[in-house]
Amino acid sequence: MLNNRKLKRNYISRSHLTNSSTTKLKKPNWIRVKAPISTGYLSTKELITKANLNTVCESASCPNIGECWDKGHATVMILGDVCTRKCGFCNIKSGAPSDIDILEPYRLAKAISQLNLRHVVITSVDRDDLKDGGANQFVKSIYEIKKLSRNITIEVLTPDFQRKEGALAQIVNAKPDVFNHNLETISRLYKNVRRGASYNHSLNLLKKVKKLSSTIFTKSGIMVGLGEKIEEIETLLKDLRKADVDFVTIGQYMQPSKDHLPVIKYYTIEEFKKIENIAYNMGFLLVSSSPLTRSSYHADDDFHKLKIARDALLNV
Ligand code: SF4
Repeated sequence: MLNNRKLKRNYISRSHLTNSSTTKLKKPNWIRVKAPISTGYLSTKELITKANLNTVCESASCPNIGECWDKGHATVMILGDVCTRKCGFCNIKSGAPSDIDILEPYRLAKAISQLNLRHVVITSVDRDDLKDGGANQFVKSIYEIKKLSRNITIEVLTPDFQRKEGALAQIVNAKPDVFNHNLETISRLYKNVRRGASYNHSLNLLKKVKKLSSTIFTKSGIMVGLGEKIEEIETLLKDLRKADVDFVTIGQYMQPSKDHLPVIKYYTIEEFKKIENIAYNMGFLLVSSSPLTRSSYHADDDFHKLKIARDALLNV
């Protein structure tokens, strides 16, 4: 593991987050979320807290937490709650991460079995400090979940595993049902939005997953409202199709705090629908495009839609 000082030098920079003086756009009235107060929400929260697990729902301040947790749909974030990168849009803490918690996969599997889910999404922080980028913890988590919840389907939402030889194959061999890796934004905005990541590397990663397993579903997501143009979104969608990605999610970027990148534009419902049509015309099996779409939003229902869409295609 790298020491803290080296980590800071290699991965963490705040120089691209200089937005505090930017005028804030008013959130439009079509973006409404359910307040996190229901009994379903509270029991999910209690279970996650008791199991000492981290979730991206809380760490990223996801607006859908009230709705998702009411149904027990929490996206657990493994490998700690501190990320080794500092993306301009992301609310997850960054810095020197903690040691790997070897009991995490067991606690995770137990909590998932208690939630009684059909489909679960597991994600992680970026762990550039680890030799395998944290791939082995994904694998262990998949195995432990399968042991306790035999009929569950598993979706992994992974980091890009840059310079982590063999990490990808390790995860694909554990046979998750869906492999999700987000491009997050168009190529031109990478240096501000996903500093430390590479658009082409992320595309290649998705392409490689399909080469390693032709039956796995691949999925990727983007946020809009960061200053991209519609033609640039079209190029990104074409690139994802060339990488044989099955499912794309498109949601509105919302600024988590004044220290994060500002919202340049709020897309209307009609504009989301237009992007959805463009994507469907390119041949994606499934497209989710709406202001509140996030990569794990409605992942359970969407997994079933994906299977139906593939079966329909194979039976033509
Ligand atoms: S959309 Fe995903 S991250 Fe947000 S609350 Fe739902 S499950 Fe959690």
